[in-house]
Amino acid sequence: MSKMFKIVGVIVIILALISFLQFAGINILLGAFSAFLTVVLGTAFIAIGELLDRVGYLEQQLNMSLEGATSSNESLPQKTCPKCLTKHDFDYPKCPNCKFEH
Ligand SMILES: [Zn+2]
Repeated sequence: MSKMFKIVGVIVIILALISFLQFAGINILLGAFSAFLTVVLGTAFIAIGELLDRVGYLEQQLNMSLEGATSSNESLPQKTCPKCLTKHDFDYPKCPNCKFEH
């Protein structure tokens, strides 16, 4: 996802150079102006890609700490369904496998 933004940013900057060469033949100021705007746009895409990288990293860290929290919950008492012998959380009134109430 973030790589896509960076690639788009690089493509946009390349397009900026091409558009500069095209417009420069008509009007050098127009060419410089459009190239400037397009380079800003391309840089913005690369910045978004960079930002997504950081957000992704933070998300990963958060998920790891959340997984740590849920794995400690697994020490909760469990009970075994008398019908299908599936183990499930103690606070479930029904068996998640066969819906047997016990
Ligand atoms: Zn069951």
